[in-house]
Amino acid sequence: MPPPATPPPATLPPATLPPATPLPATPLPVTPLPVTPPSATPSPAMPSPAMPPLATPPPDALLNLHGLTRDELRALIVSWDFPPVHAARLWNYLYYEAVAALDAAAMPDIPARLMERLRAECTPDVLPVAHEAQSADGFTRKYLLTLPGGSRIETVLMRFTGRVTACISSQAGCAMGCVFCATGQMGFTRHLTAAEIVAQALHVQRILKAQGERLRNVVLMGMGEPLHNYDAVMRACEIMRDGSGLALGARKITLSTVGVVPGIVRMADEASPIHLAVSLHAATQKERLALVPAARRWPLDQLIDACRYYVEKLNRRIFFEWTLIDGKNDTEAHARAVAKLLSGMQAQVNLIPLNPTSGYGGAPGRTDAAKKFQSILAACNLPSTIRQPRGIDIAAGCGQLAAEG
Ligand code: SF4
Repeated sequence: MPPPATPPPATLPPATLPPATPLPATPLPVTPLPVTPPSATPSPAMPSPAMPPLATPPPDALLNLHGLTRDELRALIVSWDFPPVHAARLWNYLYYEAVAALDAAAMPDIPARLMERLRAECTPDVLPVAHEAQSADGFTRKYLLTLPGGSRIETVLMRFTGRVTACISSQAGCAMGCVFCATGQMGFTRHLTAAEIVAQALHVQRILKAQGERLRNVVLMGMGEPLHNYDAVMRACEIMRDGSGLALGARKITLSTVGVVPGIVRMADEASPIHLAVSLHAATQKERLALVPAARRWPLDQLIDACRYYVEKLNRRIFFEWTLIDGKNDTEAHARAVAKLLSGMQAQVNLIPLNPTSGYGGAPGRTDAAKKFQSILAACNLPSTIRQPRGIDIAAGCGQLAAEG
């Protein structure tokens, strides 16, 4: 039997958290990650929970409509001396109808003069599909999408019993370098804009709409580290959540992080309503560092402190993802170690058998080991699931996205 769970500390005062250094802003940091600990100098206060300001486009650039919140779109239309009702209609066309172009025929309620101005100064963000593939079982479809400038990202539509989920990307490539992840192996190219993140959800919504369905679940588990691109991701989530548009429930959006501590603290301080998943994979700093280089910047003890802070501040559980690698982190001792590490925390562990990538030689945890692992967690009152594999044959599974089509 596993040892009894250790009781957690009662509360974690915010002051004991590591310095909440704001996440990097543009220009964008690229690999390799800084390996020095966070600055010892006092950190600035956490940013205000208000929406970050809209990036000002270059004077000659078209304004991307999918990067605007509904209030911002309304303000734009009113500033052009059109009544707000036209903003409401335009929003409806963009998100409820998921119209893909500023096309008068597709938007008959938009006056010609407004359409003319929209076409002159704005653009919707529609990402061309360079390639798409469907898994042999028909449950998964992967789209290789081209960004302005030529970089490519992948978006995945996954069907599970009773639900459809879009797995979307937050960056082209990733700077975090997790050893078993194809995205990490390709390095970092650039952050996505909020509009480019929203455009992926809309792409899936258009496909589902044509089939009489609707997108209800989004996971930010595609390419990139969402908390490394915090402002754009949170703006995109607000746009996707808007009840007059895509209307995704806050609890139908899950953001997965490798453990960017300042971002987790910021989500707690801003009372971010979306779900948080943390990729843990190991219960000691040494073992985690061998899989997740970002653990050098944000060590395990700081990460767990931040997670406890989040859970206690928001009274909401965290999902912890644990990629099961045969013999490396799937033993009974590992199960007991993670149960002890997370004891007393509102948490659920999602066990994910490793998906193969060309750059990593580890093998997936065996099914019997996964079941044993899960039974140990259950005995420690730690709920868990074993993720159903999806899209492995088209390299659309967790850790397999490499923008190669
Ligand atoms: S697992 Fe996530 S954070 Fe790690 S390299 Fe891959 S995309 Fe980046």
